[in-house]
Amino acid sequence: MTIDDLRKKLDMINGKGYKAYKDIQGEYDFGNFKLYIDYVQGDPFATPSRIRVRVPQKIAGFDSELYKNPSRKLALEDFLARSVFDVIKTLPVVKGTGHSGDIYIDKGGQEIIKRTAMVVTEEYVEARLSIGLPAFGRRINSKGAMTMLLDFIPKIVDKGLLKKNLNLNNIWQWVKTVEDADYLRSKLKERHLVAFVADGSILPRESGVSDKPLKNEHVVPFQSPDSLRVEFDLPNRGKITGMGIPEGVTLIVGGGYHGKSTLLQAIQRGVYNHIPGDGREFVITVADAVKIRAEDGRRVEKVDISPFINNLPNKIDTTRFSTENASGSTSQAANIVEAMEIGTGLLLLDEDTSATNFMIRDARMQQLISREDEPITPFIDRVKQLYEDNGISTILVMGGSGDYFDVADCIIKMHNYKPYDVTCQAKEIAQRFRTNREIEAQTKKITIKPRLPLKNGLDVRGKKVKSRDTDTIKYGYEEIELDYVEQLVDKSQTSAIAEIIRYAAERYVDGKSSLKQIVDKVYQDINSKGLDVVSPFYGKHPGNLALPRPQEVSAALNRLRSLTVK
Ligand code: ADP
Ligand code: MG
Repeated sequence: MTIDDLRKKLDMINGKGYKAYKDIQGEYDFGNFKLYIDYVQGDPFATPSRIRVRVPQKIAGFDSELYKNPSRKLALEDFLARSVFDVIKTLPVVKGTGHSGDIYIDKGGQEIIKRTAMVVTEEYVEARLSIGLPAFGRRINSKGAMTMLLDFIPKIVDKGLLKKNLNLNNIWQWVKTVEDADYLRSKLKERHLVAFVADGSILPRESGVSDKPLKNEHVVPFQSPDSLRVEFDLPNRGKITGMGIPEGVTLIVGGGYHGKSTLLQAIQRGVYNHIPGDGREFVITVADAVKIRAEDGRRVEKVDISPFINNLPNKIDTTRFSTENASGSTSQAANIVEAMEIGTGLLLLDEDTSATNFMIRDARMQQLISREDEPITPFIDRVKQLYEDNGISTILVMGGSGDYFDVADCIIKMHNYKPYDVTCQAKEIAQRFRTNREIEAQTKKITIKPRLPLKNGLDVRGKKVKSRDTDTIKYGYEEIELDYVEQLVDKSQTSAIAEIIRYAAERYVDGKSSLKQIVDKVYQDINSKGLDVVSPFYGKHPGNLALPRPQEVSAALNRLRSLTVK
């Protein structure tokens, strides 16, 4: 169909009930691009309609150098989504009821994450938008719709998606930054590092509710201690220096308010790439790092927390521990075991969000409460073993207990937002002031028994799954609370997780596959067919999805109250 066909259809339905908008669903040739009206909302107050614009690469004009590898392609797609967003902001608003006049693209925040909003291939560039088709009351406003579809959309394509109208330097900056960041992350392992924080990085954020960099005269750019400084040679930027955090057990110590948590938070976000100007572009962490915290109240389904917790009152079995309402310590133990089950090489803990009794039991307490009366093997007695037996490193913020000096390989002190390597000093103190703690761990290696999820409890056929915000998924009748899954950073990731769980339940949950095997199978599909594949609208506008990590998918499954495992 042509633009004229669309104009005629819109003319015909002017003033009719909103549902008549359904007549414009279909594919239209605009000459320079194609418009796909995939799904039309039934009501001006309902979720906006979904449309796509597809521009042939011949017209869009992006050189294959800009998307020749996965890092570059991700960067270019991210850049274009933001560029479309910027054009939308300049457009006047067509007024009306409900969502009338809305135009939206899912462009993401400070992170650069694979998302379904934009697709670049050798053949075309495709943007996936949501628009609120305009109405007066519940009657169709065709004139407004013509403005949006026949005037605004071509403008968006022209100014937002054609290389000739974009700033090529900015595009290259995006592409080079992401490529360098991915390269650096891929090199951490061979250098036996778990994280890198570049000299000059800006770690603090504007506020507790804004993820933008803090900008004022008091901001202290990151500067590595000499003893921990490492250098990388990046493909685009060349040499870069910064603090390399080695594998093993690392402690971040220092007085209150000296920047400990800020450093750890930057490291936990370092599993993602960041936009140029964020300040954390080269704060890079191994991709499978997991933030661990206490999370009392969460549900736990048959997790073997016995490496940390044994002999609970009433002879509760901790090798297959289930509860609807975990305590601080049992939730933290479950979080670690679940992270190990899906796979992780680095645990991140902050004393601010940990259960004290899970972290430490000092010598005096050991005297007062005998080993037999204390179910918890504190983390201090497992942390070294986790590295030596399981290859899992830990970075731990601990300003409150020097007992950890005995088990740490590297100790970094934050002072006035600057890091100092105090490993030797702390070890010397540990020699002088013996704690006389007894080590409480049994020497047995921690092994993880895979759990096999059952279909029952995951099946939501005929019911809805959706996410309201970053922290909640409505899964059929169940609600999954993700407030404490800190490395989930984008609402569209949460939406993707909801789709992934449904997709997995329909295809791969069979009572014989382990949770990890199931998640791995979904990621194989995503790798071969794209993230669109998990959407029920595969082949059309798949909705606004952004790629979560397997760790967060698993975290959501584990918090689903209807999950049952064999
Ligand atoms: P701690 O965990 O050591 O108590 P935080 O990391 O919570 O301290 O930091 C305390 C405050 O200092 C926060 O408001 C944070 O934004 C700010 N801050 C952290 N790092 C810097 C920095 N490099 N420059 C300026 N302010 C910072
Ligand atoms: Mg803190």
